[in-house]
Amino acid sequence: MDYKFTTKCIYGDNTNNTCENTGAISFPIYQTATFAHPGLGSSTGYDYSRLQNPTREQLENVVCSLENGFDALAFSSGMAAITALMELFHPGDHVISGNDLYGGSIRLFNHINRKNQITFDFIDTSKDDIEKHITPSTKAIFIETPTNPMMNVTDIRKVASIARKHGLLFIVDNTFLSPYFQNPLDLGADVVVHSGTKFMGGHNDTLAGFIVVNSKELSEKLRFIFKTVGSGLAPFDSWLILRGIKTLAIRLERQQQNAFAIVQWLLTNEKVKNVYYPGLPDHPGYEISKLQSSGFGSMLTFEVESADLARHILGSVKLIRFAESLGGVETLITYPITQTHADVSDEDREKNGITETILRISVGIEDISDLINDLAQAF
Ligand SMILES: *Cc1c(COP(=O)(O)O)cnc(C)c1O
Repeated sequence: MDYKFTTKCIYGDNTNNTCENTGAISFPIYQTATFAHPGLGSSTGYDYSRLQNPTREQLENVVCSLENGFDALAFSSGMAAITALMELFHPGDHVISGNDLYGGSIRLFNHINRKNQITFDFIDTSKDDIEKHITPSTKAIFIETPTNPMMNVTDIRKVASIARKHGLLFIVDNTFLSPYFQNPLDLGADVVVHSGTKFMGGHNDTLAGFIVVNSKELSEKLRFIFKTVGSGLAPFDSWLILRGIKTLAIRLERQQQNAFAIVQWLLTNEKVKNVYYPGLPDHPGYEISKLQSSGFGSMLTFEVESADLARHILGSVKLIRFAESLGGVETLITYPITQTHADVSDEDREKNGITETILRISVGIEDISDLINDLAQAF
């Protein structure tokens, strides 16, 4: 059946659960490490939960359907997914990467992958000429759009055409918009990665990660890595993310609506110097966003007049919590310079404008007047 997105959040593409016949509406948690074989040389399709588990498979089917992929793999965290993905590369390979990525991805590239002789160029993929950085060893382009935390928007179709022309694997970390607002595979990417911990789970209660691919070849390579390194998502955590995804569409509508209201409020606040939100018509990525995403999301970054005020706000919010992470129903405020981007060099942070006056908010689903009252008292 060709269901619409909101319906697919609940059922995926397939409303028949072939694993069980009790009529359970909620997909069961198959809390088992191993599976009995009917006889020698035969299998139920399940051997061992590192390789296959029905609850994880149901989640993978739903995510695959939401991203219009060929296959989706569910990992124990976003970083586990990106780590497995990087196993596609060999010593000597070169990767062109966005320079304003999630700090954990930059740490992985610089401290784990580099040690294995994979090299990186970190560039502003929203502005720089990507082709100038391609060498005979280049194998892939890895981007986030919008970026974390500065909200730079990269034209996915344009990068896809460069990647195709040069035979490079094009990877998009789609965590910030989720498949509800953006489907990079439809725009020409080969691989989508997600921190499922964020919008997909949506309740700040479970870590998870996904890789979604557009081809059988990539699926087979990654399934081999997946079963070998053993970082698949546990059955119970798979069930929690399945449950979270059921409300993805309605959560994001409300979160985006709240984000717009907070942006408007910040714009009228004289202690706020800048607001970075791709849904603002004067944001440099506004026009591209409208062409490649169906919404602008619920992440916003802003600059206040002094570092003292930034620290004061972090210490004064009551309803809004000062915490890392994003995408959940709870509104969180973070200080990128000491949190998500603590491991990024001072020089790179400076280049990207991540200073002591920059704060980031992940807007939740609370009543908007409570959120604005909390911000007002914190200012
Ligand atoms: C959080 C995050 C990750 C890492 O995911 P974990 O689930 O925390 O391991 C990767 N990319 C982006 C954009 C993120 O926000």
